[in-house]
Amino acid sequence: MPIRALRPVLFAGAAVLLACASSAQAGDVARQRAEIDAGLDRGYAHLDALYKDIHQHPELGFQETETAAKLAKEMRALGFQVTEHVGKTGIVAIYKNGPGPTVMVRTELDALPMEEKTGLPYASHAVTTWNGRPSPVAHSCGHDIHMAAWVGAAQALVAMKSQWRGTLMFIGQPSEETVGGAKAMIADGLFTRFPKPDIGFAQHVSNLAAGSVAYMPGVESSNSNELNITFHGRGSHGSRPQESIDPVMEAARFVVDVQSVISREKDPAAFGVITVGAIQSGSAGNIIPDTAVLHGTIRTYDNAVRDKMLAGIPRTAKAVADMAGAPAPDVDLAEGGKAVVNDAAITARTAPVFKAAFGDHAIAMTAPNSASEDYSEFIIAGVPSLFFALGGYDPKVIAEARAKGQPLPTNHSPYFAPLPEPTIRTGVEAMTLAVLNVVGS
Ligand SMILES: [Zn+2]
Ligand SMILES: [Zn+2]
Repeated sequence: MPIRALRPVLFAGAAVLLACASSAQAGDVARQRAEIDAGLDRGYAHLDALYKDIHQHPELGFQETETAAKLAKEMRALGFQVTEHVGKTGIVAIYKNGPGPTVMVRTELDALPMEEKTGLPYASHAVTTWNGRPSPVAHSCGHDIHMAAWVGAAQALVAMKSQWRGTLMFIGQPSEETVGGAKAMIADGLFTRFPKPDIGFAQHVSNLAAGSVAYMPGVESSNSNELNITFHGRGSHGSRPQESIDPVMEAARFVVDVQSVISREKDPAAFGVITVGAIQSGSAGNIIPDTAVLHGTIRTYDNAVRDKMLAGIPRTAKAVADMAGAPAPDVDLAEGGKAVVNDAAITARTAPVFKAAFGDHAIAMTAPNSASEDYSEFIIAGVPSLFFALGGYDPKVIAEARAKGQPLPTNHSPYFAPLPEPTIRTGVEAMTLAVLNVVGS
């Protein structure tokens, strides 16, 4: 994506120029940060209680009714106009403060179907129903941190409303983990029933050091797709292959041949992975089975590379079946998250603000995250955005783990345990400063 130093953002018939990096005044940022901090000193206990309440009462995607209701209550108390049940369980909170750009700030609402093993005093012991069975549920991706910081940023922006003009559009998105919530909100009129945002922001906690933020222009996270293929054959006695169509042979050929989509069809310099992680077929050595089922995952950064892989995989599967004289295989490459592509101009405008606020703890990322995120749906729908990472781990814990050569728990680990206060505070500061930097004055 080309860097655009001056990019017009239209709102209400007027135009705001996104200024170049030099417009960020370090003194202004320091003063704003001090004001946000003073508000946090008075209000942090409330955010802490909200965080721990949400942490102990996690809900899975499209079931986040209690979570959404808690956030709706917070935002109404701040003077936002709140609409609930947008995209099933999502919420939209609007705060109008004169003419100016509309800025979207997104948090996710959902947790994961897994057991928390952190041993923290506020650990989740919740159990819910997942795919028809009882399942533990926990905020092991840290979306509860995002919710607390989202409310905290709204509080700070309302408290500082004399310093900016525009419209805040704070959204609580359901079901990020199943990669369905952003699409559900858009399909339910997120950008037609409500103002279309000029700019969007979101943040995600990680196991970087607490107090740090990390950002990069362009591709920030990966595309993901599932791979589910069933090869059909004709079962027979193991000694009579001439009467069979062998699906194990089809599967074996496919697993090898599909890697030529990676090695021959995409640019070798472009990131792309096809992994077949599970093969299920047959029951005994002397029986040729009649089906073989493969499960895998596909990861890319670039949408064009992804499209090549999504075209090459079914073509390879069909060719393999044709070679065996077998019926066409069933191929399901269910969509996961599309790559988040950060807007170059917004990143360039926000980076000096983060540098001014956080110094060496503002980190320019040099490589995208290999995880996936459906925030990309909002960007694809036309909201230029910055999606940045938020550190959540005690630097001492990081140093100890490094010294022992042990990996830190990542998001989705049952041991993932961001430190609440420094993380939420930094999340509030970073998001509030990012928004103040793009609204009108
Ligand atoms: Zn996650
Ligand atoms: Zn997440």
